[in-house]
Amino acid sequence: MVKELFVNAAIIIATISIGNQILINEEITSSSPLKIRVFFGCMSGILGIILMLYSINVVPNVIMDFRNITIVLSATYCGFLGALITGLILGLFRLLFQGLTFSSILATLGIVAIAISCALTTKYIKKRSNKWIILSLYTLIYPTIVFIMVIQSRILLMKTILIYWISTVVASVVVFVYLQFIDILRFTFQKYQQDSTKDHRTGLNNVRQFDKEFNRIVNGLTDKSIITMLFIDIDHFKKVNDVHGHRNGDQVLEDLGKILLNTTNSNDIVSRNGGEEFSVIMTDCPRDKVLGVAERIRREVQDHKFLLLNAQSINITISIGVAIYPFSVNNIQEIVEKADSALYEAKRTGRNKVVVCKSIQNASADFSASRE
Ligand code: GH3
Ligand code: MG
Ligand code: MG
Repeated sequence: MVKELFVNAAIIIATISIGNQILINEEITSSSPLKIRVFFGCMSGILGIILMLYSINVVPNVIMDFRNITIVLSATYCGFLGALITGLILGLFRLLFQGLTFSSILATLGIVAIAISCALTTKYIKKRSNKWIILSLYTLIYPTIVFIMVIQSRILLMKTILIYWISTVVASVVVFVYLQFIDILRFTFQKYQQDSTKDHRTGLNNVRQFDKEFNRIVNGLTDKSIITMLFIDIDHFKKVNDVHGHRNGDQVLEDLGKILLNTTNSNDIVSRNGGEEFSVIMTDCPRDKVLGVAERIRREVQDHKFLLLNAQSINITISIGVAIYPFSVNNIQEIVEKADSALYEAKRTGRNKVVVCKSIQNASADFSASRE
């Protein structure tokens, strides 16, 4: 029996590991997207079926398996829907593939009762560990009732219940501890993944992610694409650091990141390209609206009171260089360089202004500037 228990534990751990690999980037909760919850419920159901196929002979004529743990798993992670799907799969399998007998009907009713109880209870418990403990109680109670109904011999009944309880509790604890370990692994993986794409100070894309996004845009370019590149640089930022200190400078950078996010659309790609230099890539902005967007950002920053650590507030300004494909450049690869040149022009001609790199047909007047 120890050998069979070991096989069951290995099946559970292997299936959870595979599931974790598939869902490594997903947040698995009762409010996850429908397809995630359905997938999780089905995966758990399949795990339950495999566990049924590797059932353990406890005493003569009494077999046992850990299928019910998979319902607890679904209910704990995916809530109501997950528990119902897993319960349905297990119930159907038990009835259709393992014969229609009195004990199979009782076992199926047991599965359905556990699934419904777990589904109804799960949303009322907040903490995962509490969920796991309380829902696991159902997997002890219902099968015990079934054992009492089908096993006549008192000694056999006591022995079966004792073995079932001990092995279920041990399996439940082992699976929960392993799930905790998997959760930590997934959290760490997601954090590292985020750290490698995000700038730690502002939470915006970092320069590596900027390159990635830019390459994705270049690869998806069509005849209708209009790509706008805004290069943004804080004016005289060195002075902010010199006068108010580096930590206040950092605070200003954080706030500027928020302003950029708030003044752009969710489709726009906002990045901190380094130091006090930022960029916004827009893929769906009509050419005649670009200047308006850039001006709005510039004005928003100019009017914003940047709060320092000593509660004093300061004003800063930014300069913005803009290039638009296919109007400012023929070759999309040149858009970064052109936006940078436009930014340089904005700095050179007075700062706190937007300079748009002019159309290629009108190359003689290379820039057009705007400021209130
Ligand atoms: P300009 O108007 O020509 O852009 O002048 P500027 O002073 O903004 O530009 P400059 O390139 O001379 O200086 C940039 C400053 O940005 C220098 C550096 O100390 C500061 N800086 C860069 N990264 C950070 C950062 O992460 N935190 C802080 N606090 N300052 C930074
Ligand atoms: Mg700079
Ligand atoms: Mg600067």
